[in-house]
Amino acid sequence: MNPITQLKFKNRFVKLGGDFFQAKHPVPGQSPRLIAFNRDAAPLIGLDPEAETESFAGVFSGNTLLPGAEPLAMVYAGHQFGVYNPQLGDGRGLLLGEVENDAGESRDFYLKGCGQTRFCRGFDGRATLRSSIREYLGQEALHGLGLSTTRSLALVGIGELIYREHPEPAGIVTRLARTHIRFGNFEYFHYTNRPEHVTRLADHVVEHHFPEMVEDKDRYRLFYRGVVENTARMIAGWQAVGFGHGVMNTDNMTLLGETFDFGPFGFMDRFNPRYICNRSDTHGRYAFNQQPEIGRWNLFKLGETLQHLIPADTLQEELNRYSTVFNLEFQNRMAAKLGLTIADAEFESLMNSLFRLLAAHQPDYTNFFRRLADSKTGNTQDLLEDFHQRTGDLDDWFKQYDRLLEREDIDAETQVERMNAANPKFILRNYLAQRAIDLAMMEQDFSEIERLHQLLKNPFADPDDDRDGIDPEFYSADTPEPYRGMQVSCSA
Ligand code: AMP
Ligand code: MG
Repeated sequence: MNPITQLKFKNRFVKLGGDFFQAKHPVPGQSPRLIAFNRDAAPLIGLDPEAETESFAGVFSGNTLLPGAEPLAMVYAGHQFGVYNPQLGDGRGLLLGEVENDAGESRDFYLKGCGQTRFCRGFDGRATLRSSIREYLGQEALHGLGLSTTRSLALVGIGELIYREHPEPAGIVTRLARTHIRFGNFEYFHYTNRPEHVTRLADHVVEHHFPEMVEDKDRYRLFYRGVVENTARMIAGWQAVGFGHGVMNTDNMTLLGETFDFGPFGFMDRFNPRYICNRSDTHGRYAFNQQPEIGRWNLFKLGETLQHLIPADTLQEELNRYSTVFNLEFQNRMAAKLGLTIADAEFESLMNSLFRLLAAHQPDYTNFFRRLADSKTGNTQDLLEDFHQRTGDLDDWFKQYDRLLEREDIDAETQVERMNAANPKFILRNYLAQRAIDLAMMEQDFSEIERLHQLLKNPFADPDDDRDGIDPEFYSADTPEPYRGMQVSCSA
């Protein structure tokens, strides 16, 4: 493990040349302050988790440039809410470079909110502290749930007010990702009629992320297949945990299927298939139950940029795999939530009727599964309170469920253990994130960010003790009535 000044920067993206980015240094931020540092993510870039943090405010604000970093703003385009926007690009974030860790893997080291670039389109190049806190916690919450996501390394506040609805403080998140290359990077070169640059991007991704395909004559097909499959699995994970991304534009999807660019995201509280977490999404294009189909649509748009490399019918064939991979992953995840391992047709019917019941009764989606596990040890009270009334279809469902449990042939204790290992007790409820934000903004007290992080990095287990004021019952309770279905706006 290395100190912060000795990270192994490799900077492969730079080698693609100036058509792909603007070389740009961060704009210094006034009086930066380190709010959070995620020791768990440090080894991803070979950084010693116990490193001295004195210099970190300077480093993670971009004020001090690390030796080896070659910061750049990528150019990309993308479909936003279904409409093509020809020129986006990194307007407020910079890739400092790719850093190799001790296992020989590398991660992109990226600062989000570090000042204007050529692609800022008149915006200020900054991010609000509130959205930065949400992004910092959101990435780690999904990681804790075992989903594929970009990671948070650090969160810095800077002493500048920026203007949204009101003047407010700004923040910078250091994001680590397997890649920052988005569907939108491909679209930019496709729509500006430079297929040779699309090919170079594809070659770059294959060489560095799918090296086993490099020599294969079908490599472009296999590469597209890889993207289709990773994306399908990522979204199946979202659907299983009740996560709404909020802005599934093609510029917010990376080629490696990591959940990316956390903006107005949200975890569903009461089950509602039409849940819209993004207040700006007036037509519900990115509503919870639309996410799987939007993932497919985005992949179709990516496929269009590859037409000079892959025949149309082959592209279609590969895209058709999306639903198969999605369904398999989703069923496996739902089976695990129900403590089942046999995911056959009977299970599918059980799952479908469960979703009908959940939509009708709208219990807290996360806690429903913990209560279902509890009911196996005799506590059915909490579970039944979730349902408005004990209707016949509810009883039928429990009978069907018991029948499938019997096939598993395990004792109740193992059953409960299995279920509690697959169903989180803690999720990042919007109102909890908001409490952390309010405390940070009003009292410069950042301790709630740390408390939430501690819970969310291990969301399946109760904390061993209630140090630091962590009360498991409080943090795992259903969202209180006034805060249910909270939406967050895009403009942060
Ligand atoms: P996002 O909503 O963060 O995915 O951003 C969409 C596009 O708008 C990207 O090209 C961003 O770089 C750009 N953008 C968003 N907010 C800002 C800002 N405050 N300053 C500059 N560019 C921004
Ligand atoms: Mg974005």
